[in-house]
Amino acid sequence: MFRTSSVLESLPSSGIRQIFDLAVQMERAGRPIVRFDIGRPDFETPTVVVESAKQALDQGFTKYVSNRGIPELLRAIADKLDRENGADYDPDSEILVTTGASEGVAAAIFAVLERGAELLLPGPLWPHYACCARMVGATPVEIPLRVEDGFAITRELLERYVTPRTRMVVLNNPCNPTGVVYPNETLKEVLAFARERGIFVLADEMYEPFAFDSKPTSFAALPGAKEVTLLVHGFSKAYGMTGWRLGYVAGPARLVGLVNKAHQYLTVCATSFAQKGAATAYTAPAAAEFVARVVADFKDRRDALLDEMTGVTELQYARPAGAFYFFPRLPASVPSGEEFALRLLRESGVAVVPGGVFGAAYRRFVRLSYGATPPAVLREGLRKIVNQLREERLAA
Ligand code: PLP
Repeated sequence: MFRTSSVLESLPSSGIRQIFDLAVQMERAGRPIVRFDIGRPDFETPTVVVESAKQALDQGFTKYVSNRGIPELLRAIADKLDRENGADYDPDSEILVTTGASEGVAAAIFAVLERGAELLLPGPLWPHYACCARMVGATPVEIPLRVEDGFAITRELLERYVTPRTRMVVLNNPCNPTGVVYPNETLKEVLAFARERGIFVLADEMYEPFAFDSKPTSFAALPGAKEVTLLVHGFSKAYGMTGWRLGYVAGPARLVGLVNKAHQYLTVCATSFAQKGAATAYTAPAAAEFVARVVADFKDRRDALLDEMTGVTELQYARPAGAFYFFPRLPASVPSGEEFALRLLRESGVAVVPGGVFGAAYRRFVRLSYGATPPAVLREGLRKIVNQLREERLAA
């Protein structure tokens, strides 16, 4: 009998796909769609970065490189973490360049978890963590956070879900899908919990530059955090480099050595010439100016969103202070975010992601990404959502 992996069979294929495919199909048929479903920014990679990768190609920089990453990129990452985040990492032993932050997350999880171990997920969260944990037979444990509390993580909540099998907790700051940026007190509480319980922290700071009210503290910069932290970051979101597939993991040398083992067997090394481009992204002043412009532009979008939400009572949400996501709860009259998302797309031409994708407790939520919607389109899309909700209530 031909058999396949029951673990892989049981993993959901991307829950975002159904809406995405339908939105594309409707667009092809000529219908304009407001695309709140796309989790990537709508700008191109800065020219200076593209040119540096092109030059690397022209110079034949096309062979395998070191598993850990090319020295100039490792150095550029160490300098960036030191300069911008106050986190101190040795480029030779404490940083690993990965094929996107996605591979970094997978390799970090493979390094720490195994059959019988548990991963704490104070959610809603990006589904990747839970699926990677399940791939090694570990158990993802969702900790439901409440919109009424601004999706706050507390020590008390963490203590309620920890068991002797817990090995790691995920902290995604700023958060996909809520857009929440955690205050320093939360980081300190998570750190105290992790140290006292002997648990690692997977600090995913992928959206770090996208913080509109105040700069988030990097978890790794807290005193005493480094030895328990695997920091994940990358180039996809801030530099419009989603297709380059470059990210990184930073942590204590022994742990990064283990993450590197998983990385060796997954992808060997990240793409050589792309790494040259990423080194330029972290060192060229033009690239830094580019990010500053993008973040200012995204803040305008976020402000337009909050303005448009003024007086709207149908949606309940935590203040979107970072990333480029908004995660409102639908009114009690709308029990399923999934069915609402389909009706909204078909009837009003607005694509959103059903909240259930980010955790079982969020079926009545939807996620909006404003990564691909300039302010005018964003306002129009939000109005259509509110109108759809009001019409459905009248019709009920
Ligand atoms: N971390 C979070 C929270 C994300 O939302 C994503 C992508 O959506 C990633 C990491 C991975 O990004 P990439 O693999 O493109 O570097």
